[in-house]
Formats: sequence, structure tokens, C-alpha cells
Amino acid sequence: MKDLLGGKGANLSEMTSLGLPVPFGFTITTEACNYYLEHKDFPVGFFDAFDEKLDELEHKMKKTFGSKTNPLLVSVRSGARISMPGMMDTVLNLGLNDETVQGLIDKTRNPRFSYDAYRRFINMFGNVVLGIGHKHFEEALEAAKKKKGVKLDTDMGADDWKALVAEFKQIVKRQSGQDFPEDPREQLKLAIRAVFESWNNKRAFAYRRMNNIPDNIGTAVNVQAMVFGNMGEDSGTGVAFTRDPSTGEKCFYGEFLLNAQGEDVVAGIRTPQTLSDLQGKMPKIYEQLDKIQAQLEGHYRDMQDIEFTIEKGQLYLLQTRNGKRTAKAAIKIAVDMVDEGLITEREALLRIDPNQLNVLLHPSIDPHVDKDVLAKGLPASPGAAVGKIVFTADEACHQTEDGEKVILVRKETSPEDIHGMHVAEGILTATGGMTSHAAVVARGMGKPCIAGCKKIIVNEDAKTVAINGEHFAEGDVITLDGSTGEIIRGAAATIDPELFDEFEVLMGWADEVRKLQVRTNADNPHDAEVARRFGAEGIGLCRTEHMFFEEDRILYVRQMILAHDEKTREAALAKLRPVQVEDFKGIFKAMNGLPVTVRLLDPPLHEFLPNTDEKMAPVAKGLGVSVADLKETVHLLHEFNPMLGHRGVRLGITHPEIYEMQVRAIFEAAKIVHHEGVTPIVEIEVPLVGHVNELKKVRAMIERVAEEMGPFDFEWKVGTMIELPRACVTADEIAHHADFFSFGTNDLTQMTFGFSRDDAGSFLPVYTESGLLADNPTDTIDQEGVGQLMRMAVKLGRSTKPGLEVGICGEHGGEPRSVAFCHEIGLDYVSCSPYRVPVARLAAAQAAL
Ligand code: ADP
Ligand code: MG
Ligand code: MG
Repeated sequence: MKDLLGGKGANLSEMTSLGLPVPFGFTITTEACNYYLEHKDFPVGFFDAFDEKLDELEHKMKKTFGSKTNPLLVSVRSGARISMPGMMDTVLNLGLNDETVQGLIDKTRNPRFSYDAYRRFINMFGNVVLGIGHKHFEEALEAAKKKKGVKLDTDMGADDWKALVAEFKQIVKRQSGQDFPEDPREQLKLAIRAVFESWNNKRAFAYRRMNNIPDNIGTAVNVQAMVFGNMGEDSGTGVAFTRDPSTGEKCFYGEFLLNAQGEDVVAGIRTPQTLSDLQGKMPKIYEQLDKIQAQLEGHYRDMQDIEFTIEKGQLYLLQTRNGKRTAKAAIKIAVDMVDEGLITEREALLRIDPNQLNVLLHPSIDPHVDKDVLAKGLPASPGAAVGKIVFTADEACHQTEDGEKVILVRKETSPEDIHGMHVAEGILTATGGMTSHAAVVARGMGKPCIAGCKKIIVNEDAKTVAINGEHFAEGDVITLDGSTGEIIRGAAATIDPELFDEFEVLMGWADEVRKLQVRTNADNPHDAEVARRFGAEGIGLCRTEHMFFEEDRILYVRQMILAHDEKTREAALAKLRPVQVEDFKGIFKAMNGLPVTVRLLDPPLHEFLPNTDEKMAPVAKGLGVSVADLKETVHLLHEFNPMLGHRGVRLGITHPEIYEMQVRAIFEAAKIVHHEGVTPIVEIEVPLVGHVNELKKVRAMIERVAEEMGPFDFEWKVGTMIELPRACVTADEIAHHADFFSFGTNDLTQMTFGFSRDDAGSFLPVYTESGLLADNPTDTIDQEGVGQLMRMAVKLGRSTKPGLEVGICGEHGGEPRSVAFCHEIGLDYVSCSPYRVPVARLAAAQAAL
């Protein structure tokens, strides 16, 4: 009943039903939250039901809420249908005041513990309910410790905490202008209200945006009897995973702190101990916990993230949920669970978020190159990150907007840092363990993270960090190796990722079920090879203009553009042809036996010429022309809207000699490699066709060249990009002259919406942030608009030529939702950048399932 009870509430109930030791409590539903958020008031009858449940809780616990002799204390915990770790609020130890604290002391005979609980409560309540910044309380705590001359919270005694309680109340009064509410029922009501309202706090909102969680599902609130991990050395609290969330290894894995409460582990205030320490210290508890974790994993059939607390030698479970994990762990766990007979292959395939695969395929640090390791921390989230040091989330955002790559370095992170973590390459913290906020969030984001590095001292104010005694300032470059925990000086050399067995197994399952072919967009042999290793089944887009930009040939390209007469132009083209032949040979070889779609020149010619005065002179000199002459040409080629200008097939119509040179180079390369035993499959593609006659004309040229150079005994085809609305609606006519279609959804999206991606930055964010557009159409295909045109083009095209090959080669081709759409409208293939090929393979499999 996650929709109604939230994930936390549902799982607490379920664990109780399983007979596990869960502190008693009750759940206020998400419905109540939504009602409250809409009406700013509780639903009718709410407090009657509430009183009834509170009575029941008191009976069960044999304690009374607000009692001076035997007080019941509760936690008030948020928990939505989809887990949003740390994004909303929780208040612990609720029910304490100057009277009930006496009852707690009498009951526990432990004044130190009682006042510790009390000061924590005022801090949390003050923060969550009254909106007072943590730092006010922290400063008072630090000052108190300094005054006493101690470093650790555990060195504080009963009187110290008691004094701090009084001071915390002063802070509350000063900061909020009201007295700390002493009435426990009032406290409870205010806390429930605050947890409801935390649904709409900034970080929860940001988290939902990032994770595509709807804004209207609301949070449930769990009111639960407190158990205490801070009652002495026979008490403690911890977080555990049923498998290693970083590697996926099947081993019970976790961290705990002795004599500590709830959030101490997650908040990264003290660096915790491992579960094997627990095994040494409390073997019985460990054994019990180990049994429970296995039971929970079997029950939920997924890796669990468990919170537990030990109160005076008694174990309690406080939470279980499907654990967040790295992409690597996700795959290993899914494949292992199939082997263990826990889940089916189908379930395994559906469990992995295709977007997560992307990070797996990111580079790692080259082990064969010398590196200067400055220090080591906990390897909290794998991968290599290189960037400039920044110390605040805001600075991270600021610098990345200017195109910098940054590493966010902090003492510890908190949910307020989420926007900075999102844009940083990697995260480094001084405190906190493998289950700290930084570690958990980084793993979820697929970002490299090193946590709990004791060798760094962060000075946020001075914007410096001492790494192993050596000072680094904001802007200095470091590298993080999240797989080893090493902090490395400067930018370390990286290498392409190695694929691991479970990955190949999962991909094998995906390939068995998917209907879509997956090709890649590659312009050079290296990319083609990488993509092929990742499982690409051909090239769906080879852009030839990138070849034109390379240093050794841009000169000829410019000579060609500047040529005043046919002869000079022919001479320049003659020099370009052999280099193009070499390019194509490399690509055909890399894609031996697989189709290669080569697109003829697409961008407008002025892109190949210098655009500023400073750049003119050297270029003119290199070309042996006058600056005035060059300027004149640039001026002539200037366009107001280059995207809508003289480009694509329009170039082929006005400068047929360019396309002809390219076609000759393609055929020549194919012939040569074919003689060498390679099987080229050639697909020549004409860009930006809007009218059938454009394609007809270019096709005639290609056929003439083929006749002159042929006959060929390899496969070749002529087709077109479909990237203009006019091409979509006249696709039946165009199909008469095309052997294949390939949707260029980048242009098609721009042409359909009537905006240029380069200029949309000033308004499109307003559309998406305000919800006017649910998604940015340049990220995922606009299915109702652009998608309808695609649907129409497929239908019309195949009405002329049944079985017409149709694919997509825009950036959308590697985006899971777009891939699903392409499956639905019956495309033959998607084509995407090499590193996204596995993403597309899995997304295609999920679409088929
Ligand atoms: P989050 O969803 O951010 O993890 P939780 O509601 O789980 O927030 O609570 C934060 C911390 O407080 C956790 O460590 C949890 O185990 C602890 N906690 C919550 N309720 C209780 C309770 N009744 N007794 C003891 N500890 C609790
Ligand atoms: Mg929790
Ligand atoms: Mg295009």
C-alpha cells in the first residue's frame, strides 16, 4: 500500500507482519497530506482518529504521552511512495519538555542520556518545525565543547547537555520569536504539519525534478515510538545493505555507531564502524541482524537498505527499502539474483534503469600511468572525476555555467547541496562513511565520490583545503578515483572502461528480446570500433563535415569554397577526395559486414571559414588570397538564419561537384576494402530533403557515378534524412526515390516547434520549469507533435514501399523514452553515440517487454 502509506510506512507495517522487531506506531496517509496541502488544514475527523491511534500506541508501549513519570516519546517521520532519502524531514524524541524529561530520567536512571535526547529534540524541532538554521545550534554546541575543552559529543556529561538545553531554548526564542512549545500534543501537531509541508521544500522539489517524480503524490507521516541507540555502550544505531551497494557483491554490508542516535550515521558527523566490528562487539545481535537481512531480501526479492537501532542490547528495525546502488552493482545484483533463482531474466531486464548504464561506460583512471596520490578516503562511488576545486554548491553551479568542470569539496554534504552535487564531476568529503549523504546521493547520481577522507581539512571560509598537509585553493585541479578512494594531483590520465561479465550477460538477454536494431553515430574509425565493442550493429549516421574540419584538409575545403572558377574548384576537390577515401576505408573496415550510413555534406559553407577579423589574416595568407577577397566571400555567405539557410541537399543542388566528389570517395573506398576482403554495406544519405525533386536529382547523380565506377558487387543504397515537416507529410512521394529513411529528430524537432536550439535558451527553461512543457523536446521526443509527424512519415513511406527501412539518428536515439516510442511506431533501428549504445539496447529490450 505504498501509494497510501508511503514506502517507509508500508514497509514498517509489512516488517511488523513478518514478526520482526519494529517499534510500534501508526501512519498518517498521503491522502491526509494532500488534503492538508490543498486546504491548509487537516481533514474533518482527523484528530478523533488521531487520538484513538495515539491511545492505542500508549497502551501498547505502556507509556503515556506527556507523562511526568513514564513519558512516551515518538518520532515523526516523512515517507513518500517513492523514497526520497533525506529530502524531507523527520523529528526524533518528540514529547520531551522540562517535566517529561524528569520522567525519562527517573525511568532510565540516566540523566546524561535524557538531556542528550532533549537537546537533540530541540535542535531538530527548531530546525524542521520552526525553520531555524542548524548552524545556530551547532555553533552553540561547538562553543560548549570548546569551553569544556573536549572534542567529542561523547565527552559531554549530563550537566553539559542540560545547560545546552537551556541555551537551545534561548536560540529558539531569539530566532523564531516564540517560546519553545512545551505541550507535547502541540509539538506533535506542529511536527505533523511541518512534515506535510516539507513535501514542498526546495530540495524535495529539486529532487523530484531530477528523478521525474510527480509533485502531487504527497508524503505519509509515520508516528512511531522511539527506541534509543544513545543509552550507553550496549546501544547503537546503524545502516546496512544486504549486498554491497557499490560493487553488488553478495555480502552483508554496513556501518554503525555505538552510543548514537538515528541520523548520526547518515549525517556523517562521526565516521562509523563496520558491521564486522559489530560482530566482534555484539555477536548475538549481529547474528540476529544477519538472519533478518536475509529474510528481508528474500521477501522483497531485491537488495535492501536497512536502518536498525540497538537499545540496551535489544535490536529494533526502523526501516527497510530497496537500496540505492551504483550501475555496476545494479547489474551484478540483477544477474546474480537470476542465478540464485530469486528473480526472472525479464525482471532483471526491467529492473535496470537504462540511463544508469551510461556511467558504467565512463572512463576510469589509467593504471599504467604514474599518478601523484595526495591522500586516500573511502571509495564511496566509483569512476574517475577531474575538475577544479570548489567549496560550495552555489559556486559549483556558478562555475559550471561558465563551462568549468568542478569537484565539490566539503566537510560533509547535506541535502542543501544537492544542486551543486548535480553539476559537479565528483564529490569529496572529509567526514561521513559509505552510507553518508554524500555517498548515497553520489551513487544515485552515478558520480564519483570519495567520502570520509581524514587527511583533508576543509576551510570553507578561506576557500582552501589542506590535503595531507598541503594547501590547495579554489580552482586548483584534482582528480578523484571513486573506485579506490585516491585523491590525485592535477588531471590524471584516463582510459576507456572495461566491460564485465554480468554486463555482457544482461546485454545478451536484452539482445534476445529487443526488436529494434541499435546502430551508432560515428565519424571516425575509433568511435566506430568503440561502438562495435558496445554492441552497435552498424553506423546510422556518419557525418562527413567533421572530416572536413581536420587540420590537413580544411585548407582544401577553403580553397574549394573560395574558388572563382571551375578549374580551381576541381583542383581543390581532387585533393580532398583521396583523404575522404581514407576516412571511409577506415570506417568500412571497422564496420565490416554491417551497414554504414554516410551523410553527404550538411552544414552551410561559411562554417568552414573564419568568422572574426583576427582569424582572417592568417587564413588568407595560408590560402594565398587577399584578406579583402576572403572577407568578401565570408560576407557573401553570411546568413541571417543559418539553420534555415543554404545547407543540406541545397548545397548538393547548387554545388553538385561537392556531393559528387563525396560519392566517388565513398564508392572508391568501398571498392578498395571489398578487394581486401571486407564486406562494406553502403548507405548514402541525403540530408534536409523537403521536396521529392531534390532527392530525385541527387539520386540521379549518384546512380550516374555508380554506373561510371561500377558495377559493384557490394550492397549499396540511397536514402534520405527525414528532418523537415514537409518531408514527413510527403513521405509517400519521397519514398519512391529512397531506399531508406532516417529521422533527424534534432532538426525535425526544431523545425516542428519553429525554434532553434541555440536560441531557445532564453525561453525554453521557462516552459519546462513552469510545467508548460512536461519535458524539454530536445531531450526526449515530443511524442504528440514531432512524434505524430514521424508516425505519419513511417506510414506514408511504407505505403509506397512496404518494408522500407526506417531509423532514427538524432540524439533522441539513445534516450530511453524516445527509444520506446521508436519501438512503438515500428522503426527498424535507433542510432546513438557510441557510449549510449548499451543504453539503447536495454531500452529497446524494455520496450519490447
Ligand atoms: P530518512 O527518510 O531521511 O532516512 P527517517 O525517518 O528514516 O528519515 O529518520 C531519520 C533517522 O532517525 C534514521 O536513522 C532513523 O533510523 C531514526 N529514527 C526514526 N524513527 C526512530 C525511532 N522511532 N526510534 C529511533 N530512531 C528512529
Ligand atoms: Mg531513513
Ligand atoms: Mg539535420
